[in-house]
Amino acid sequence: MTTPLETPSLYAPREPIFPKRVSGHFRRLKWAAMAVLLAIYYVTPWLRWDRGPAMPDQAVLVDMANRRFFFFWIEIWPHEFYFVAGLLVMAGLGLFLFTSALGRVWCGYACPQTVWTDLFILVERWIEGDRNARIRLHRAPWSLSKARLRITKWAAWLLIALATGGAWVFYFTDAPTLARDLLAGQAHPVAWATIAILTATTFIFGGFAREQICIYACPWPRIQAAMMDEDTLTVAYRDWRGEPRGKGAGAGDCIDCMACVNVCPTGIDIRDGQQLACITCALCIDACDAMMDRTGKPRGLIGYLALSDETAERAGQPVRSVWRHLLRPRMAVYTVLWSGIGVLLIVGLALRSQVDLNVTPVRNPLYVTLSDGTIRNAYELRLRNKQHHDVTYQLGIESGAPLSIAIEGELAGHITVPPDQTLTRRVYLSADPRSPLASAGSEPVTLTARDLDGPASARIRTVFHGRDAR
Ligand code: SF4
Ligand code: SF4
Repeated sequence: MTTPLETPSLYAPREPIFPKRVSGHFRRLKWAAMAVLLAIYYVTPWLRWDRGPAMPDQAVLVDMANRRFFFFWIEIWPHEFYFVAGLLVMAGLGLFLFTSALGRVWCGYACPQTVWTDLFILVERWIEGDRNARIRLHRAPWSLSKARLRITKWAAWLLIALATGGAWVFYFTDAPTLARDLLAGQAHPVAWATIAILTATTFIFGGFAREQICIYACPWPRIQAAMMDEDTLTVAYRDWRGEPRGKGAGAGDCIDCMACVNVCPTGIDIRDGQQLACITCALCIDACDAMMDRTGKPRGLIGYLALSDETAERAGQPVRSVWRHLLRPRMAVYTVLWSGIGVLLIVGLALRSQVDLNVTPVRNPLYVTLSDGTIRNAYELRLRNKQHHDVTYQLGIESGAPLSIAIEGELAGHITVPPDQTLTRRVYLSADPRSPLASAGSEPVTLTARDLDGPASARIRTVFHGRDAR
């Protein structure tokens, strides 16, 4: 009892949750999603892709040192980051699409927090037993046997966490080389620090924080409410069928067995209605369906349901088909946008040039007058060769009147750029004293670079300053 001067505590300690093992369609789907996602995460850095000599042979590599992103046959340079931005926008739209169709399906099946928590719970169950055994162990005083089980579990979690942090760094450098360096204790301190941070966060988030991350730390549950509407199919309890719950005469289909609550990874009771803590994993559907099979009642007391169907269902009338819920204008808009960006990215990748040309006019001075009256402008030229072999480029100039071109340090008008490199050269454009360009102000001109042995070419506009330039 509190006196009027006492302030009640606003802090409630976490009640540990011990999800019970369950089997059914959705549990199998979750196992499959978990296996595929973990395999992709751990195996991808070890896939090889031959790009020729002097190029990394890792299929997926964020090459920080050379500021490059390799994805199988695709190579993204820093100035092409819009491809990555496009992929992120597509990922966002995909999330909108799935959330608007099936609620928090991302949270329930594919979010790393869900996948790793599921894995940690699986290990916990192997070591400490199912729900009742874990509750007994939790309540038991510390003993040798409890300490042995806890240490075994934490050690297994730590190994998984270490593998998770370890796999992450392999995406940023050659995986076999880094693995050897790590084993020899010679890896870069940044690699050790990254592994340590990711090991700690995986261990804490997957082992101890679990549903707290979903309920309190993650902003996504708050945002996605805006993407759902009354046609979204989401996990719900059919209270008009289940209530009044119990086992006596006149009771509804719900026998109040608590199976749906006991399997819930966030520890909530779906019979209380839709809640922010529900990650739409659908495990309560599996648990309740098993119970309905046992009691001889029809399945689906808990199931996927759209709010717009509730009235019809309550009245015992037929509801709209799943396809009517999935094929609605909002979904069409998301799908069209998603596909449109995908097509644009593919076309952009197919059409992008294998050479990049950049030029910066030297402004101090704008021009120089040579002893014979020739007007000469200087430019800093940067040529980027994106091919995996040496390429010789012929430089050219397109202008309203003849200009001559000279490259500092090169006798011919050619520049040879090594594979995957950028060369910077000073280039001079000169106008004969009698040329109209020599006496003009600032005139637009175009510099070109053409691969002497292939189709790659690039062009860029700049200006030529004559005597009247200001
Ligand atoms: S209420 Fe059901 S769907 Fe929601 S989190 Fe719990 S088990 Fe998963
Ligand atoms: S599992 Fe089904 S029957 Fe059991 S309490 Fe939950 S809703 Fe009721």
